[in-house]
Amino acid sequence: MPRPLVARIDLAAIRHNYRYAKQLAPASRAVAVIKANAYGHGAVAVARTLAAEADAFGVACAEEAMELRESGIDNPILLMEGVFEPAELALAERHRLTPVVHSPEQLLWLLQARPGRPLSCWLKMDTGMHRVGLAPRAFQEAYRCLRACPHVADIVLMSHLARADELAHPGTTDQLAVFDAHVRDMDSPQSLANSAAIMGWTAARRQWLRPGIMLYGATPLPADHPASAPLRRGMCLESALIAIRELDAGAAVGYGGRFVCSTPTRVGVVSIGYADGYPRHARDGTPVAVKGRRTRIIGRVSMDMLTVDLTPVPDARVGDPVQLWGDRVDPNEVAAASDTIAYQLFAGLSRRVRLIHQDADADADAS
Ligand SMILES: *Cc1c(COP(=O)(O)O)cnc(C)c1O
Repeated sequence: MPRPLVARIDLAAIRHNYRYAKQLAPASRAVAVIKANAYGHGAVAVARTLAAEADAFGVACAEEAMELRESGIDNPILLMEGVFEPAELALAERHRLTPVVHSPEQLLWLLQARPGRPLSCWLKMDTGMHRVGLAPRAFQEAYRCLRACPHVADIVLMSHLARADELAHPGTTDQLAVFDAHVRDMDSPQSLANSAAIMGWTAARRQWLRPGIMLYGATPLPADHPASAPLRRGMCLESALIAIRELDAGAAVGYGGRFVCSTPTRVGVVSIGYADGYPRHARDGTPVAVKGRRTRIIGRVSMDMLTVDLTPVPDARVGDPVQLWGDRVDPNEVAAASDTIAYQLFAGLSRRVRLIHQDADADADAS
């Protein structure tokens, strides 16, 4: 019997979510962002699922891109951190990878390269996030140089939004204004929107979208926002009860005795812990579903196990399924109870978690 811990990945849901992103801006193309192993969902499987319709894939670096190329993925691939040294431009040329240019160093490397055929790039402006990207004036100068450069083909003008998930915050409007003021005379396509902006900021939807977290069905906006409703969860993280204890009032559970039973309590032990990527900081009360019924974590999460209150599930037995997040438990709820975000939960799953990919659409085609 293998360990019962698995992440079931619903590829049909991911396909649905990509189509939903495109429906929100039907005239736009979209880079399906599958960096960090598709946010833990399995980059190759997700890429194969979207290959027939994705306008491009977005990854952080050439290593992630090469995994896709070696698996036969042929779509355009965007290197969202660009290249890390000039020699990587040759790799980009050979494998048709499109680098972002976000720094003066990367700009120089591209201008000084001698590729066998023209390279395309995405030129990134820092409009206020102050992480990477060229300052607006340097961006304008860079654009002129790239346009004049015979070995530079197409250019996409991009920026990244720092607070698109805060729908009442003026930061996004300010960033859009900085961008628009500095690209006025440039006749190249534009890209500004991550998932939150695609769903919440119509003014940020330009020629290219960059949906990430929404593909996996975790909304970056409030759960009750209408734009969140069509999303379907891409991952169900499941394990099982491996032991059940009847504890007396006053008994303390787990390391540090963080949870103390106030009444006699049935406690279930689940085979998943922080070495699997479950957050160690999950508080008492973090939701979990046993046999489809919601209950809560009690006691500190340990490396390979965690403990849950079985009071709402009196018929629970060893071997019964436990959902950590998925259709019964919103990953955003688990994240909030652990002072993090769903992005980190997904991306932080360790290789101990077996991914099981299911594609209801493909199954339906096959039968
Ligand atoms: C990761 C990333 C995205 C996707 O962001 P989400 O919030 O997951 O939609 C978009 N653009 C860039 C440059 C990124 O690095």
